[in-house]
Amino acid sequence: MSGKRTERLTGTIVKALSGYYYVYPDGRADDSVSDPIQCRARGIFKKKGLSPLVGDKVVYSVAETGEGTVDELLPRISELIRPPVANIELAVLVFSVTEPALNLQLLDKFLAHIEHAGIEAMLCLSKSDLAEEAEPEETAARAALADVERIYAPIGYDIVVTSSRKGAGTDALLERLRGRLSVFAGQSGVGKSSLLNALVPGLMLETNAISSRLGRGKHTTRHCELVAIGDGGYVADTPGFSQLDFQELGIEELGYCFREFRALLPDCKFRGCTHVHEPGCAVIAALEAGEVAQSRYDNYVQFLGEMKEKKRRY
Ligand code: GDP
Ligand code: ZN
Repeated sequence: MSGKRTERLTGTIVKALSGYYYVYPDGRADDSVSDPIQCRARGIFKKKGLSPLVGDKVVYSVAETGEGTVDELLPRISELIRPPVANIELAVLVFSVTEPALNLQLLDKFLAHIEHAGIEAMLCLSKSDLAEEAEPEETAARAALADVERIYAPIGYDIVVTSSRKGAGTDALLERLRGRLSVFAGQSGVGKSSLLNALVPGLMLETNAISSRLGRGKHTTRHCELVAIGDGGYVADTPGFSQLDFQELGIEELGYCFREFRALLPDCKFRGCTHVHEPGCAVIAALEAGEVAQSRYDNYVQFLGEMKEKKRRY
C-alpha cells in the first residue's frame, strides 16, 4: 500500500492560518498536549463554496509523509460570523463587577444575540476580589454583584463569580466548560485573558497589564484559535473580540430573545405583541407586578427603538 492511509479519522479544527487547517484529533486524553495535525483542505470544498472554520468537526486523513488533508466537514450546530467560529455551544459572558463598571445594557444586548443564535449563555462576574474590601468605592462593585443575582438568576441564567487574582471560581467555571466548545465574550479589560490563563495551565496569554508595560496593544498579531481544555472541551480565544456578531436580528424576533418575555408572550392579548403599548400585554403586567426586572424591560424598549431607527434609515 502506498499514498494515503485509509483510516477514517475525526477531529476539530483549532486554528486556520495561511491556507492550512490545524486539526486536533478526537479522543485525546484529558491532559495530553499533542500538537495539532497540519492539514490542507481538499479542493472540492472551494468548488462547493465551502470554507472550513475554526471549530469545525472534520474527517481527515494523514499521508505517510505526515501531511494531513481535511476530507469532509461534519454538519455545524452553530456558526458565529465574527470571529468566524463554528459549533459554539456555550457563550461565557464576562463582566467585571467594576473596572470597567457593570453595563447591564451591554449584557442584555449580548444575551439577546446569543439567544437568537440558539447558543447557551452563562454569566461570569469577574474581579470579585474588588467587591470584597470595605472601601466606599467597592459599594458599586457589591451592588453590581447583587444586581446580577437578582435580575438573571430567576430567569434561569447560570452565574459564576470569579477572581483570577484570588483563584476564586475557576473550578466552577472549568466544570461548565468540560467537553464542549465555548467562547468568552466581553468588553476589553474585563479580565478574559487573565481568566483563560487561570483556567489553562501554561497558556500565558498576554493581558493588558503586560502589554501596556511593553508599550503596545495586545492581541495585535494573534488570530482566533481554540484552546484545549479538560475532557475534550475547547475555548475560543477571540482577540479584540468585544461584540458578538450573529445573523441580523429582526425587530419581530427581539421579544423572543428576552427569555422571560418569550415565556409570557402566549398570555399577551394580541398575537405579535411588541410589549410596548398594546392593551392586555402580559409582559407589561408582569413588569407592574415586579416580576420582570425594570432594567430588562427598559433595555428591551431601547433596543426596539434602535432597531426601528436603523430600519427607517435604510
Ligand atoms: P481582557 O481584555 O478581557 O482580556 O482583560 P485582561 O485579562 O487583559 O485584564 C485586564 C486588567 O484587569 C488587567 O490589568 C488585569 O490585571 C486585571 N484583572 C484581571 N483579572 C482580575 C481579577 O480577578 N481581579 C483584579 N483585581 N484585576 C484583574
Ligand atoms: Zn405583550
